Amino acid sequence: MRKKSFTVDLTKIKGGGEFQCPSCDNLISPDDESEETYTIIETVMGDEDYLERMVIQCSTCNNIINLEGFEALSEEEDVGIEVSEALPESKTGYRTLHTISQEDRSLGQVTVEYAQKEDVKAFKRFRKLRLGEPFKATVTLVNAEEASFKREDLQPIAKVVKKRFKGLVNQDIYIIEEKDGRKNVIGKASDL
Ligand SMILES: [Zn+2]
Repeated sequence: MRKKSFTVDLTKIKGGGEFQCPSCDNLISPDDESEETYTIIETVMGDEDYLERMVIQCSTCNNIINLEGFEALSEEEDVGIEVSEALPESKTGYRTLHTISQEDRSLGQVTVEYAQKEDVKAFKRFRKLRLGEPFKATVTLVNAEEASFKREDLQPIAKVVKKRFKGLVNQDIYIIEEKDGRKNVIGKASDL
């Protein structure tokens, strides 16, 4: 039998991401890593290192299913984290300041630095940096709670910053915790 190809948009699926094969109604759960219900044929990564598209094969009917809509799913993981527009004290193209909040609760601030001529030169040997491109972000999180930030809280913050300032990689994002007026370097997003 000739294989047919179907497309499933994950943004249109409610619940835990389970869906029925469009051809044979076999229930497919992307969380099922045993791949008993399907086989992964191909995964396509987007430029922001999230999964953009996945091609799978239904194990029951052998038809091909293109899975789309991962980008929107990963956006939902932002859990209401927002970075403000540049604050007035920013210097466009050089350094911008922003506040960062989660569901209207202030988390702290973000300072972003943009590559100047001398930075492009200095980085030349190990990284192709474009003039005016963001290349460093410092996220200062003001912690009013008793406990320190947990790593799993920091990952979505780093993700939102990276997505907002195109060109940044995890290595460029420094996270600092400010507690009782003292600053404590947590590390780079790449170390989380
Ligand atoms: Zn099927």
